[in-house]
Amino acid sequence: MTSALEKLRQEFGGDIIQPGAAEYESASRSLLTPGSPAMVLRPRTVGDVCAAVTFAAGKVLSVRDGGHGFPGFGTNDGGLVIDLSGLADVEVVDSERHIVRIGGGATWGQVAVALAPHGLAISAGDTKDVGVGGLTLAGGIGWKVRKYGLALDGVVAAEVVTADGEVVRTSAAERPELFWAIRGGGGNFGIVTAFDFAAHPTTDVFHGRIAFPATEVATVLNGWSDYMRTAPEELTSVASFANPMAGGPKAPIEIHLVFDGDDEKRAATVLDPIRELGTVVDDDVALKPYGETLMDGVVPPPAVRIVNRSAFVDHDSVSDALRILADAGASEHAPLIAVRSVGGAVARVPDDATAYAHRQAELMFVTTIAGPPPVLDAGRPPLEALWASLAPHTDGLYANFTSSATDEDVAAIYPPETYRRLAAVKRQYDPDNLFARNYNIRP
Ligand SMILES: Cc1cc2nc3c(=O)[nH]c(=O)nc-3n(C[C@H](O)[C@H](O)[C@H](O)COP(=O)(O)OP(=O)(O)OC[C@H]3O[C@@H](n4cnc5c(N)ncnc54)[C@H](O)[C@@H]3O)c2cc1C
Repeated sequence: MTSALEKLRQEFGGDIIQPGAAEYESASRSLLTPGSPAMVLRPRTVGDVCAAVTFAAGKVLSVRDGGHGFPGFGTNDGGLVIDLSGLADVEVVDSERHIVRIGGGATWGQVAVALAPHGLAISAGDTKDVGVGGLTLAGGIGWKVRKYGLALDGVVAAEVVTADGEVVRTSAAERPELFWAIRGGGGNFGIVTAFDFAAHPTTDVFHGRIAFPATEVATVLNGWSDYMRTAPEELTSVASFANPMAGGPKAPIEIHLVFDGDDEKRAATVLDPIRELGTVVDDDVALKPYGETLMDGVVPPPAVRIVNRSAFVDHDSVSDALRILADAGASEHAPLIAVRSVGGAVARVPDDATAYAHRQAELMFVTTIAGPPPVLDAGRPPLEALWASLAPHTDGLYANFTSSATDEDVAAIYPPETYRRLAAVKRQYDPDNLFARNYNIRP
């Protein structure tokens, strides 16, 4: 151990943070999960990442980018954390093809700020502090998803440090199976130190929410999902209701949306059918720079835990799933329910082009309960009953919006053929399963 540590100190130029250090308390935890790792390593260069990975062999290892993962893979007790936040450069490397190289530890807020002067954007998530690494490797459903696809659909190449400490480049032409696997297979195959994304020129966009009373949840929800089937792909939207912070079952149903364009007349034509779904009680949709659509992250109080669960819904199950969700939203123990429209550009990519296996889903929804442990304990039985009634109408789950990490969850994320192909890549690049703290593909 000591000699390995001495070697690390010689080869590693980043920060080594151990218990007792001033930064340890903040460095030891990820956003939602406390931890007590023996050491947090913050590399500054790709060479540092190689040294850190070599040192990690045989240890419990967490890899952290934005630290926003729900299952808490970004920290552990007694093991090692490699915190990539020092690798956050964002550089336009090919201005004609709009290729942008992004460090594996950047956040989407940093990306939006860096790309704004170039008039470029990448289809990502909705929150500034979320990491490019975690969100992209498992999907990435954001405000441009219906027009440009998932965040991972924008990746054209990546630099990866594999379990043996080697730096490899992967793309459609270089190590294509690894390239397939990292787009949907999470952090199972190595540490991505840089992503090359094909960005898109962007104008300002219309962004905001249109709200309707709680009494209209069922009508608005059904009308919204019908409209999203044929709505232009510049429109991406999320229907959310039963927000416990706004009255739970009495909370309004809100359609949060982005119309990806700055033409006011066309935006009105596309958005007015949403306004006509019911009695509008609030409408703050306004033209703004794309970067301003991203929310500031919120750090929950230390005692608060968040339990998320997500699932996809195929076309034929939409009305049954929405009926059950609307009824749940009206009940005393309603969780927060958010339903995202997908389809569009996501569904046009062939199913086996990447390891993301849920391209044909029409909707993805998330239930959230939050609070100190006694509140969660009270909320769990009705939540489990809700999920039992939803089971016949859902298909798979979205890795980025799920707090648990059981074998059933892994099977719901990766259907058998996807899992089989991922396991073959895992055997090649991480046969000893060093990168195990994720929705794990066992070699
Ligand atoms: C407030 C909030 C808003 C969100 N909004 C959205 C949204 O709009 N759309 C959406 O799709 N998701 C969203 N998410 C979910 C988010 O995509 C996941 O929680 C994701 O895992 C967060 O990534 P991270 O890098 O911040 O997390 P981390 O906890 O740092 O990383 C999660 C895991 O990803 C892997 N990983 C991360 N970076 C790398 C890397 N460079 N190389 C190898 N492995 C890596 C590791 O296994 C790590 O444990 C949101 C989450 C929160 C908390």
